[in-house]
Amino acid sequence: MPDQIPLYIDGEFKQSNTNDWIEVTNPATNAVIAKAPVTLDSEMAEAIASAKLMFQCWKEVPTPERARLMLKYQHLLKEHHDELATLLSSETGKNLADAKGDVWRGIEVVEQAANISSLMMGETVENVASDIDSYSLIQPLGVCCGITPFNFPAMIPLWMFPMAIAAGNTFILKPSEQVPLTAMRLAELFEQAGAPKGVLQIVHGGKEQVDYLLSHPDIRTISFVGSVPVAQYIYQTGTHHFKRVQAFAGAKNHMVVMPDANKAQVINNLVGSSVGAAGQRCMAISVAVLVGDAKAIIPELKVAMAKVKPGSPDNAEAAYGPLISPQAKQRVLRLIEEGKQQGATCELDGSQCEVDGFPGGNWLAPTLFSGVTTEMSIYQQEIFGPVLVCLEVETLDDAIALVNNNPYGNGTSIFTACGAAARKYQHQIQVGQVGINVPIPVPLPFFSFTGWRGSFYGDLHAYGKQAVRFYTETKTVTARWFDEDIPDGPNMTIHLR
Ligand code: NAD
Repeated sequence: MPDQIPLYIDGEFKQSNTNDWIEVTNPATNAVIAKAPVTLDSEMAEAIASAKLMFQCWKEVPTPERARLMLKYQHLLKEHHDELATLLSSETGKNLADAKGDVWRGIEVVEQAANISSLMMGETVENVASDIDSYSLIQPLGVCCGITPFNFPAMIPLWMFPMAIAAGNTFILKPSEQVPLTAMRLAELFEQAGAPKGVLQIVHGGKEQVDYLLSHPDIRTISFVGSVPVAQYIYQTGTHHFKRVQAFAGAKNHMVVMPDANKAQVINNLVGSSVGAAGQRCMAISVAVLVGDAKAIIPELKVAMAKVKPGSPDNAEAAYGPLISPQAKQRVLRLIEEGKQQGATCELDGSQCEVDGFPGGNWLAPTLFSGVTTEMSIYQQEIFGPVLVCLEVETLDDAIALVNNNPYGNGTSIFTACGAAARKYQHQIQVGQVGINVPIPVPLPFFSFTGWRGSFYGDLHAYGKQAVRFYTETKTVTARWFDEDIPDGPNMTIHLR
């Protein structure tokens, strides 16, 4: 009998009273490994009420003390790094090295949350008028919430709740129903680090539970990461209910390859960034834009991709794991077929893929298309599988125009030996995260994760200084202290003297 995953409400890990359970599977076998509850409305209400009550205490806890909780937490996460990665790989199918990377990129955000005291510093101007000073205070908002996707079960929840809680808020997490186990372990370790009861709550479920959060009057902010249609829905519905919303969405990330780029570097980086994690990364490179003679790399790229094999998470030789579900695999297979029908050249077809000992897994081998045009569905849609599509253009200007015409703007990279070309690309490209000879330019947490255009709805991004602004309100004080009686009568003008 698979484990029934508890809720985490008011500091207690407790079983839901629901009759409705969602199966959590191991994507390498599709065996059911646990069941997540579809949280009842009464339980949702309980979580929000507890978070609201706890906020009244938590916001008064001195900022350095909140920072110390994060120091302890990052230490515990590091101690449990391998254990967390093993759990994470059981529900995502990621290989252990990649699972460790997922946890590590989250730990880095917790390290940054431990720096909260200096991040919460306001501004001061003395003498804005005679004997009058102005200064700003940064204050937490209240109950914040996060809705997270399947593909980074540690990193993405850790983008959210540590920064929000360090800033003095309380937080409700609704992890992906496909990967709820890692989130529960993150919560256990947070409690072990000394997090007071009720500061973090976890509820499970899908659309209905998200809708409950989106419309509840006591929720102040919504942080969402997931697919485009859901991001748009969350942004529209959350803002309709007057909440502050940041919604990170899907992507189509282009790597522009200039003819002068180092060929071996280009091939290695294209292979790793397109098929790593089975292509299930929002920053995966899914489009290669080959400028001029760079198109000559295709035969060698094909050979390199053909050598890459998926396999089970415990196989150290495996380059990546399965897709998250049979439905996800079917969707990618459909897109591969559409690519062939719409006239692209399928250089390498990974649709028939088997892994010894794991007949039930959602396997796909690397797939490479050349001769792709912008009208094809394999170019227009986010595939989210180990599939790389190649387009050819004549000049760097053509490449820039192509990328800027794509609706998404999450990440991009240029591979070149020419500083001027790289400088032009970084300046003109309408994409929020740019790599120069770096394929997946995910910023470290002292910066922010800055997707643009169709890849992001909102204004303030995840982690870094932008997250502190997202999770706080600024109060501006204008102060005068009298040391003698005021000589004048009432002042009827609006300016200060
Ligand atoms: P998803 O949109 O299906 O689900 C994300 C979350 O939304 C889950 O918690 C899910 O329960 C909830 N949800 C699903 N349908 C909903 C609905 N109709 N109404 C309300 N809530 C709903 O995404 P996914 O498949 O879990 O994740 C993959 C997607 O996430 C990809 O598109 C990927 O590019 C994107 N992603 C983006 C980033 C980024 O930073 N831009 C990072 C990681 C993943």
